[in-house]
Amino acid sequence: MPRENLNPFKIAQNYFEQAAERLELDDGTRQILSTPKRSLTVSIPVRMDDGTYRVFTGHRVVHNMARGPAKGGIRFHPDVSLDEVKALASWMTWKCACLDLPFGGGKGGIVVDPHKLSERERENLTRRYTSEILPLIGPDQDIPAPDVYTDPQIMAWIMDTYSMTKGATTLGVVTGKPLALGGSKGRDKATARGVQFALREACRDRKMKLEGARIAIQGYGNAGSHLATFLHEEGAKIVAASDSGGGVHHTKGLDPAQLMAHKKAGKSLKTFQPGKAITNRQLLELPVDVLVPAALENQITSANAGRVKAKVIAEAANGPTTPMADDILFRRGRTVIPDILANAGGVTVSYFEWVQDFYSFFWEEEEVDLRLELYMRRAYRAVADAAAKHQSSLRSGAYVVAVGRVAEATKVRGIFP
Ligand code: NAD
Repeated sequence: MPRENLNPFKIAQNYFEQAAERLELDDGTRQILSTPKRSLTVSIPVRMDDGTYRVFTGHRVVHNMARGPAKGGIRFHPDVSLDEVKALASWMTWKCACLDLPFGGGKGGIVVDPHKLSERERENLTRRYTSEILPLIGPDQDIPAPDVYTDPQIMAWIMDTYSMTKGATTLGVVTGKPLALGGSKGRDKATARGVQFALREACRDRKMKLEGARIAIQGYGNAGSHLATFLHEEGAKIVAASDSGGGVHHTKGLDPAQLMAHKKAGKSLKTFQPGKAITNRQLLELPVDVLVPAALENQITSANAGRVKAKVIAEAANGPTTPMADDILFRRGRTVIPDILANAGGVTVSYFEWVQDFYSFFWEEEEVDLRLELYMRRAYRAVADAAAKHQSSLRSGAYVVAVGRVAEATKVRGIFP
């Protein structure tokens, strides 16, 4: 078997190329759509609590703006690289197009382990990073949001730094903000809600019941923990969950609220009782009905895809499955709900937040959830129809829908000058 390329940007390009081939796009359009529009790498000097200075590296990439301002999260993680940010930015372009949102794609990140910083150091880091990427961001240019290890507080600092510099309170410069500062009700749970809505559709297509289904969730952060709660409420059984330290497996089912309390007490899920401690690798191969990767990229590869037992894999994380693994799963009759569809609930409610900020008129959570369900179901059907037409996986279907929409927008806009 050929060696697998795990470079996230190469993987993103690979998925794009497959769709471009199906859509018979010409070479010029392929080049335009696959090349990031803007990439900025910045040095971020920070005065630490002990009086010393440290310089961190950050990136912000705008992949495409053909259909509207760029949109995409900011990640704080030691493994952040420019290639990863480029890949995530391109996924945002396809995700926004897949959901038919009037946005392009962007992403940002800082190479840092934020858990090793104090709150004041995190604030200084965030504010200086914001000031360094200021030429790119803005409510009608490029709108950041939370991603791995960033949260509403960090979004509030970004909004404040931008507003102070511009001299005007600008709510719409960033989404995923606290409710006290122009955030949207339902935004914190939106990614998980979206996965839940997509899962319902996929289960209906497979004539499979979510009620009683055995679920394994890798990653117990914003996406994973809320999803566990929603699926538990729906009657599914969470039989395994994990975090960066490892996980727990309990065939009788785990209580999501107790798992959360365990994490809030600062403990890893691998020490949760009752249950058996498992590694993150083992979790992926458990005998379950639904597997939810909700942590990081490249978790399901050609090395373990043959051993994945779940019938449905819902990608709450971005890029958890490599192209070779995706092929293996498709040939084995597994349904993979691809990231650009499955986890698009977050950006969809970010879009609702941005709209509410412009109107300065805010919706109730029921209204947010109702509209989100409509967007997710509509997107799922478009993707499933495209997959059926091309006799392909849902991922290929999603890329055909998304790339087709961006290609059309690019064509009717024309290339300046
Ligand atoms: P988070 O920071 O809230 O949580 C991340 C979780 O993953 C934590 O529980 C952490 O312990 C765990 N983790 C880290 N490394 C791990 C590893 N190697 N193995 C297993 N678990 C590990 O992040 P999040 O916002 O929940 O994001 C998770 C994924 O979902 C990312 O891929 C992100 O891009 C994607 N996503 C998030 C959103 C959102 O709105 N939060 C939207 C779309 C996609």
